[in-house]
Amino acid sequence: MHETKIQAESERQKQMRAAEELLFAGPQKLGMAKRLFLGRFVADWVMPYPTIPAREQAELEGALARLRNFLDAHLDPAAIDRQADIPREVIEGLARLGVYGMTAPREVGGSALSQMAYCRVMEEIGSRCASTSIFVNVQHSVGMRALLLFGTPEQQRRCLPPLVRGEQLAAFALTEPEAGSDAANVQTVARPSADGSHFILNGQKRYITNGGIAQVLTVMARTPVPGKNETAVTAFLVTPDMPGFEVLEPRMEKLGIRGTATARLAFRDMRVPKENILGPPGKGLKVALTVLDFGRTTFGACCTGAAKTCLRLAVEHARTRRQFGRTLGEFELVKKKIARMAAGAYAMEAMTTVTASLIDRGLEDYMLETAMLKVFTTEALWLLVNDAFQVYGGAAYFTDQPLERMLRDARINQIGEGANEVLTSFIALVGMRGPGQQFQELMESLSRPWSEFRKVWLIGLDRVGAAVRAPDVPVRSAPLAPFGRRLGELIRRFNVEVNRTLIRHREEILERQYVQERLARAAMELFASACVLSRWDAELQAGAPPDATPAAELFLRGAFRRARRSLAEMNDADDPVVTATADWFLKPGGAVP
Ligand SMILES: Cc1cc2nc3c(=O)[nH]c(=O)nc-3n(C[C@H](O)[C@H](O)[C@H](O)COP(=O)(O)OP(=O)(O)OC[C@H]3O[C@@H](n4cnc5c(N)ncnc54)[C@H](O)[C@@H]3O)c2cc1C
Repeated sequence: MHETKIQAESERQKQMRAAEELLFAGPQKLGMAKRLFLGRFVADWVMPYPTIPAREQAELEGALARLRNFLDAHLDPAAIDRQADIPREVIEGLARLGVYGMTAPREVGGSALSQMAYCRVMEEIGSRCASTSIFVNVQHSVGMRALLLFGTPEQQRRCLPPLVRGEQLAAFALTEPEAGSDAANVQTVARPSADGSHFILNGQKRYITNGGIAQVLTVMARTPVPGKNETAVTAFLVTPDMPGFEVLEPRMEKLGIRGTATARLAFRDMRVPKENILGPPGKGLKVALTVLDFGRTTFGACCTGAAKTCLRLAVEHARTRRQFGRTLGEFELVKKKIARMAAGAYAMEAMTTVTASLIDRGLEDYMLETAMLKVFTTEALWLLVNDAFQVYGGAAYFTDQPLERMLRDARINQIGEGANEVLTSFIALVGMRGPGQQFQELMESLSRPWSEFRKVWLIGLDRVGAAVRAPDVPVRSAPLAPFGRRLGELIRRFNVEVNRTLIRHREEILERQYVQERLARAAMELFASACVLSRWDAELQAGAPPDATPAAELFLRGAFRRARRSLAEMNDADDPVVTATADWFLKPGGAVP
């Protein structure tokens, strides 16, 4: 028993060290979302609403027109789902349109478009076929991105052009039987050869999109740390012609995104040249996390596209289907769903646009925003598909209509690229790090108040200032000023709750996921509200009448209410009962359901 406890504690310490290295390494840069946790609003990064420069917009419009023509003529999402395969002509057609190199530099054959423009392209594909959008996402945002961000000039010259041209496919292999959400627990081992020229890989990977059809795979494996009795995860470029590379199952049978080929792989004494290390040795998880940041932006775009399709389908059906002598759209409970869907889709687009623009501005730290975007848009899409399904009634259930496929396809979004629970916890903990550090400094300085008087005074002033004064949310359109004030006041209240939480739970907050979730949910509503307000403001400035965008107002009203509720429930008395109920079943020998 004692030994199990020691083991559990040592495991906990290991996980904390991995999380510390992954999440908090390096100086803390304060992005827009992180500053919300300090009660601040960095208006410049959200307002005015970002737009694509005119010259790029013209290029994008041309690219979108060509893409739409191609997709109208060649993309059959129902057939892709039925046959569980994306036809070669679609893969090659998208390559000819330059989709796989949209944001890659021109030197490697790319179009050098911005992340915002690329998100518009992904929204278009995502509005039609989730299998195809995830395939493109893996090829461009995840597979190729690792090379673009971390590849040596030689690796980039060798690997990027055929990927951009679609002659080769990419895959990203992190997940293993023992390393799912706990990505740091990679068991695949890469042992250096005696002469140091190679690494010898042994291990298994599962659930790898494109894993059995890709020609270039980024594979995460554990390598020894020189001079220490430790190992760390390193990223390797692997090609399937390496002896020892084995595809155990090229296409695992699955519920949704059936057109994608999800593989199980094994490496048996597979020799990988040391020149194929991607990024700094031992920093593979950082490579993975950075790459996923990009992937999550386009996730938001794809979900937005699918959400708009759901809204369109529900509206068309509600306008035409008659029951009780009226169209469905005349019933208030149907109207409520359509309105909720419109508000959700409006917010998803606004949040995607703002988050992509942070990347385009060259900001270094947007990991909190991309995590929020991923959780928010994937959950919003799930609700939207469900609403559209309900409006359709029985017709949605049959395979001659797209909604049953869209429902199946949408489910993976809340699990893949970081399960939403893991990201929710991440959002709260990374967000609280800034105020937590200030508190720590304050406590340390308070032990020597006279020598550190100035520091104590400044930190104290900052904390008190944020607690008593709501930040300014500078909207340009007069009718939106009350919304700006309400958002500012909510940011102030949010910061007060963050401070209270830190004082109450201190480092124990790491284990308080109920509390983390409420803070993360409030933070996501605040970020989404800022994006919506910015978009609405821009529309009014461009001449739209104030009542032309009811979806924006509906979203803001709901988001403010949800944020207030999360903050009001910070110390919910139900929490212990929730734990007791779950433990009733979970404890060894507990109740059998
Ligand atoms: C179709 C498909 C395609 C995929 N493509 C790829 C790919 O190309 N490359 C790749 O590397 N991986 C890929 N994955 C793997 C995917 O990223 C993992 O499935 C995901 O990270 C979750 O890991 P897991 O499935 O092992 O779930 P687990 O880690 O076992 O988690 C199960 C559930 O437990 C809960 N949970 C876990 N940890 C916590 C926590 N700390 N706090 C609270 N709750 C928690 C969450 O609800 C989670 O959903 C793919 C998966 C699927 C299904």
